[in-house]
Amino acid sequence: MKLSKEASNGMNKNNVDLLVIGAGATGACVAYEASRRGLKVALLDAGDIGSGTSSRSTKLLHGGVRYLELAFKTLDIAQLRLVREALLERAHWLDRAPFLAHRLELALPTENCLSKGYYRIGLGTYDALSGKKNIGNSRLLSKQQLNKALPLLKDGLNGGVAYSDGQFDDSRLNLLLALTAEKAGAILRTRCRVLGLEHRNDGRICSAISQDLLGQEERWEAKAIVNATGVHVDNIRKLADPNASPRILISRGVHLVLKENLCPDGIGLIVPSTDDGRVLFILPFFGRTQVGTTDTPCSINTAKKPSTIEKEYLLSYIKRWFPSLESPSISSSWAGGRPLLKPSEKEVSSSRVVREHEIETLPCGLISAMGGKWTTCRQIALDALKAVEMVLDKQLPSPRQLPIIGSHEDPKRTSTLMLKQQKELKKYLPQSALQTKQIAHLQSNYGLEALSIITKSPIDTHIPLSQTIPLCQAEIQHAIKNEHALSPTDVLARRCRLAMVDLAEAERLMPIVQNYLSMQGIAKTEIGLEQ
Ligand SMILES: Cc1cc2nc3c(=O)[nH]c(=O)nc-3n(C[C@H](O)[C@H](O)[C@H](O)COP(=O)(O)OP(=O)(O)OC[C@H]3O[C@@H](n4cnc5c(N)ncnc54)[C@H](O)[C@@H]3O)c2cc1C
Repeated sequence: MKLSKEASNGMNKNNVDLLVIGAGATGACVAYEASRRGLKVALLDAGDIGSGTSSRSTKLLHGGVRYLELAFKTLDIAQLRLVREALLERAHWLDRAPFLAHRLELALPTENCLSKGYYRIGLGTYDALSGKKNIGNSRLLSKQQLNKALPLLKDGLNGGVAYSDGQFDDSRLNLLLALTAEKAGAILRTRCRVLGLEHRNDGRICSAISQDLLGQEERWEAKAIVNATGVHVDNIRKLADPNASPRILISRGVHLVLKENLCPDGIGLIVPSTDDGRVLFILPFFGRTQVGTTDTPCSINTAKKPSTIEKEYLLSYIKRWFPSLESPSISSSWAGGRPLLKPSEKEVSSSRVVREHEIETLPCGLISAMGGKWTTCRQIALDALKAVEMVLDKQLPSPRQLPIIGSHEDPKRTSTLMLKQQKELKKYLPQSALQTKQIAHLQSNYGLEALSIITKSPIDTHIPLSQTIPLCQAEIQHAIKNEHALSPTDVLARRCRLAMVDLAEAERLMPIVQNYLSMQGIAKTEIGLEQ
């Protein structure tokens, strides 16, 4: 990239060891792990933290039972290794952020004894692969047990097999990783798009130029640059090397949220095989039901836009599996783009692409993280840091302890201390029918920080604003002052998940959020909530 001398002279300049472009799960985790190793880091995102795919996932911490089946069917050891790696990472997140992630049982329904036996063995292997990090053994479900867990499920099933995975708040984990890195000294900027990369005379990249919403440009001189821009990864690679050939396929995944609670016992459903040979998840979600996902090849511009056909596709499965539910009502929906590594064989469909990640270092020095999944973002980050070591030509120091904001430095103590905190929160929150739900909400959003957010704010800001998710004004203020929220969508879809649970309810609260933003001098940029 070439800049005029005049433009270049007036530009604000920053100097860091590591520049991370993109603050999704991958970028936030790279910044977090690099900060633990004493690097001076800057983490930039063109939008909000997690506003790409990372807040739009199925929210499962999983090894992927589908990938396990594929591994056995194709005798693919690499696939098996991937499942094992993800199962270990599943346990890592459940351990490190217990307020954001919990064990979820899923029922896999079967129609006959043969398929019951087949899945029992398969899911037993899934348990065994996690070794000591197993989070709960799979078990056979009788017809009665299946009916109790999922009362509206269709007839004609002979029970099934239940197994465990993790369910988590993707957006908040993403945010807290980024904020923890910031607390450790990283510079964190949102609405800050990287437009160009600059090269030294020897062809190595040495800096990036970013632009904020006001058109202000900044230069980021960095010893190493990691490109963690998800589905945009090829765009940044092209900035570094116009001849770089594309490496990413994009596949859109849509989710619906239904007002009806189809999983009243807290046990989800996995539809083992769709007509197009995939699996579907029907999961408990804030007292409602989350349904997903689809797998549709798409462009960058349409990656976040659920199509009517995809919504109808998901509803058709709801009608097939829950026929007594005559007209399910959709309270929210979202879509996200999977950044998939291009398969080597052209004919392989995107749903069969191994979600394995790759770290690429271009000859100019740009490091790109490609592919992977949320569950394994820490492994992706650690591999990216190995590439950083190569670029810096030095070994990074051992990581220091850096608990994720909201958790204790001794992970085993987080859950115990949260129990104590519950009692304290009770003293400060208004007595209402919503109090228990409000305490659970505050703890699941902020972990051990919940109490300080409440005690630092006036009592009249503690009143729950919604029955769906009882967030209060103190949280809106906290999101704007301390969590980089700059728009109603940031607050209502990502700092709190209300818009993803019930869009109409979140729209009702939009003026309150806009009012707080205006009080902080943040201009109105949205007419409606983005999904
Ligand atoms: C529908 C769906 C369901 C999924 N479900 C699961 C699941 O249940 N479990 C699981 O483990 N994985 C799941 N995944 C995979 C997982 O969500 C993704 O692998 C992961 O979120 C990718 O994170 P990322 O940080 O690489 O990308 P993103 O989250 O997309 O982040 C990239 C960021 O880069 C920013 N950016 C782009 N260009 C620029 C620029 N020029 N300058 C600055 N910033 C820029 C974007 O704004 C964005 O915030 C799912 C994926 C999809 C699509």
